[in-house]
Amino acid sequence: MSGEHTATALVLKVALPVPLSRLFDYLPAGDILTYPRGARVLVPFGRSRHVGVVVDHGKPDFDVTKLKPVIELLDPEPVLPVEVVSLLEWASSYYRCPIGEAFATALPIALRKAAHTEPKPQYNFRITAAGNEVSEDALNRAPVQKRLLQFIKDSDSAVTGGECRLFDERWSAPMKQLLKKGLVEEVSQTFPDKPPAATRALNAEQEKATTAIINKFGGYHGALLHGITGSGKTEVYIELVREQLLKGGQTFILLPEIGLTPQLLSRFRSALQCHVEVLHSGLNASERLLAWRATARGEARVLIGTRSAVFAPLPKLGLIIVDEEHDSALKQQDGFRYHARDLAIIRAQRAGVPIVLGSATPSLESLHNVEKGLLTLYELTQRAAGAVPPSLELVDSRGSETENGISKRLLKRMEDVLARGEQVIVFINRRGYSPVLMCEDCGTMADCSNCDAHMTVHARSSTLRCHHCGAEKQLPRVCASCESDALIKVGAGTERIDEFLSEKFPDYTLLRIDRDSTSRKGELQRHLAMAASGEAQILVGTQMLAKGHDFPNVTLVGIMDADRGLFGSDFRATEQMGQLIMQVAGRAGRADKPGTVLIQSRNPEHPLLQQLLAEGYGKFAGQLLAERKITEWPPYVHTALIRCEHAQSGVAFDYLEHVRKMACHEHMNPQMKVHVLGPAHAPMERIAGRYRAQLLLLCDSRKALHELLRPLRPWMEEMPQSRKVRWSLDVDPHDML
Ligand code: ADP
Ligand code: ZN
Ligand code: ZN
Repeated sequence: MSGEHTATALVLKVALPVPLSRLFDYLPAGDILTYPRGARVLVPFGRSRHVGVVVDHGKPDFDVTKLKPVIELLDPEPVLPVEVVSLLEWASSYYRCPIGEAFATALPIALRKAAHTEPKPQYNFRITAAGNEVSEDALNRAPVQKRLLQFIKDSDSAVTGGECRLFDERWSAPMKQLLKKGLVEEVSQTFPDKPPAATRALNAEQEKATTAIINKFGGYHGALLHGITGSGKTEVYIELVREQLLKGGQTFILLPEIGLTPQLLSRFRSALQCHVEVLHSGLNASERLLAWRATARGEARVLIGTRSAVFAPLPKLGLIIVDEEHDSALKQQDGFRYHARDLAIIRAQRAGVPIVLGSATPSLESLHNVEKGLLTLYELTQRAAGAVPPSLELVDSRGSETENGISKRLLKRMEDVLARGEQVIVFINRRGYSPVLMCEDCGTMADCSNCDAHMTVHARSSTLRCHHCGAEKQLPRVCASCESDALIKVGAGTERIDEFLSEKFPDYTLLRIDRDSTSRKGELQRHLAMAASGEAQILVGTQMLAKGHDFPNVTLVGIMDADRGLFGSDFRATEQMGQLIMQVAGRAGRADKPGTVLIQSRNPEHPLLQQLLAEGYGKFAGQLLAERKITEWPPYVHTALIRCEHAQSGVAFDYLEHVRKMACHEHMNPQMKVHVLGPAHAPMERIAGRYRAQLLLLCDSRKALHELLRPLRPWMEEMPQSRKVRWSLDVDPHDML
């Protein structure tokens, strides 16, 4: 039946993955009521076809006789529930992102295509009696099998393939071996109806937070759980989820990155014995779809996911937890530039469920929301299990008391700690050998020809690499401008520290953990396992080492160049410096072994650094907030950033000048009071051969800012000049670079 369409008949409003801020009208083939909101349709578009999502039924915006009918309804049941459809509508309007792009972000890759096969449910894996009894050393020669077996053993209930992939991307062949040896068996997944009772008593602070939040179950409640590293935040999450399980609710746990999932996953599995699904970028398309479907059916009781999982269908949603809520990875930096934490809050509000934001170093936004009464603060000030917090010391790294940038004091402490059989972390947030290659005779530095940046020396591979555009070339032997061979490597990165400390402490094993040393599949997991097991005693790494990994035997942490953030060009630099120091420091000392953190600084007298160490992160953040208030920066004002780039110098700048005039003279009325700053050249103007400029909009009223953005974005989309440049609009930008 192709129904008859009168002038007043409703049509389908469809979101399509095209960069235009509007919905598209299509005629239903048959009864419009068979096209629910959230269902996918295949539609003709120009000369091609697109998969779109039905967002609404409504009056046509165009002459109905010119509209085309949909080709096919792809889902009789909507893939996106109504609450997610409306969350996406809200988000695309708030972030001024074309609605179809927002929908495309939310759908698992498999569902972005019309033809896809529904993956068969996978088997799950469970340990056998033989697997339980096998001796510790039996698998020493097959380390992946050994770790996989340990994971399955620790998990109590059966684990999925997707979970195994988290432990090692090459999990499947070792798993076959374990199956063959009879140490593991395939089972279809079953879980007990009720979670087991808690085995461990919470301490007073944990108890207070847990009880208060449980008392708010059933309605919206915004909680900020500020607990120092090791204070037992995860334990609080577990008790909250246990309560949800008893009530039949689903819990969504949002994490900034997949690296953190394995640990959380095994703790949840063993404490709660329930169906947990994970959703993150490391999964392949069918694993993703499986997890998504299990969650949509309400079978998965806990969903652990990164950013885009905030759009997952959760029919029985009862609780949202955002761990490491301060982490900038929660904000998407391209395309649909949403902040997953902020959307999680909106989702919790709309669903009427509590949300818990957890961190050892909460963002200034969240602390500000506590000030405003929008979030309730719960604090965990003690390390759980009686462990003492590490002592923090500042070391002046100016002058001659350093070797390769490492202070004598740190070297001395390393000797002591290593002699005691304990581990050391040396943290330096810069990979490569040295950040600059300079000619001693003429002073020329090796610069990237595509960027306004020096190239980094990578000694292992004998290359110079640009960390901004990826350009790479052979390490030159002579200076490019005077041909002198007196080239010196200035400054230190992880490779240089690795080389120096390996020579200095030849009796110990050193492990370098950075993006270069872990680029091969499975390498990061292998490195982290070596670090945790004590196989390596000296760990040198970038911020990869700072995140949530648990190394109980590390009792000394040295932080190099901690204070680069004090003079960073971005307004968040100091906040991020404080967070990084506290996160790295959190790795030192656990349980019975107190830890020490040596923070090397060229500005040890800086008041903010002093305050961070003397009074802790809370006071430090309070001071930063006070400064932001006086200087009128976020979170006290709302911002949007328009970025633009072009291969020719000046074009991006001129374009933004045009946008500025338009914004100020056409779209702004005097009551709006939006400050338009710029255009300005980006702090690093040229990257990958393109010149970049930006225009900043600032306003103390969110509403007024959005009143300006609403007409501005479609106008920019339609303006002919916009097609000649690359531009983007970023609402609540995380950084201004
Ligand atoms: P966080 O998530 O805040 O870093 P964790 O939840 O990982 O802290 O707890 C740190 C350590 O303390 C873990 O080994 C955990 O098992 C232990 N722990 C947490 N709470 C308790 C408690 N109430 N009693 C005993 N040990 C605890
Ligand atoms: Zn020279
Ligand atoms: Zn470059």
